[in-house]
Amino acid sequence: MKLAIAIDGPAGAGKSTIAKLIAERYSLMYINTGAMYRAITFKSMQNSIKPEDKEDLCTLMDSLEMHFDDDKLILNGRDITDEIYMPSISNKVSLYASIAEVRKQLVYLQRKMSEKYDVIMDGRDIGTVVLKDSNLKIFLTASAETRAKRRYNELLEKGIDVKYEEILSDIEKRDYIDTHREITPLIKAEDAIEIDSSNMSIEEVVDKISKYIDSIIR
Ligand code: C5P
Repeated sequence: MKLAIAIDGPAGAGKSTIAKLIAERYSLMYINTGAMYRAITFKSMQNSIKPEDKEDLCTLMDSLEMHFDDDKLILNGRDITDEIYMPSISNKVSLYASIAEVRKQLVYLQRKMSEKYDVIMDGRDIGTVVLKDSNLKIFLTASAETRAKRRYNELLEKGIDVKYEEILSDIEKRDYIDTHREITPLIKAEDAIEIDSSNMSIEEVVDKISKYIDSIIR
């Protein structure tokens, strides 16, 4: 049986941590679609291409080859995972992710990846667009404050100097853009199961999702 699991939700809800653990438990390929939008943002900013420069954006995207090596994002042969999580990229990624041409290209790539492997994919439009027919759709949320706190701690652990208030404001700004954009905004798919992780540990969320997966594969 081919497995495809979709996890959507706002920034910092714990999607990638949880998706990675589920991927290990069930031998699935983990596809972090946010990293793909971040990679386009990173390259565009490096080349001084603004989100509204659509022609230049398309030319740039044609020159990029991206794939995952475990949870590392490899862009034109180089591991750029650390760079794409810098606050300068987080600040701008939602603007690039609102561009139709960018979404079209990345959705195409994501679907191709899901055809080859059993996957767990996280993002904002996975259950509603990319993997509309997936076996299981999870909508993972948490309060903005909880999410900001988690991101803040993650960045501190990596030695990146940030202010909690800035992270909270970035998360609120991204929530707004992601849920209000014209093309495929972040919404819960009708058939998605909503999990609020504000007061749950990572293990509790993983166990809860695992029960749903077990009921599908057994
Ligand atoms: O998941 P992460 O927070 O790294 O995603 C970064 C940004 O990429 C999101 O804030 C959103 O703007 C965009 N994104 C998207 N669609 C996806 C995944 C991410 O628009 N499927």
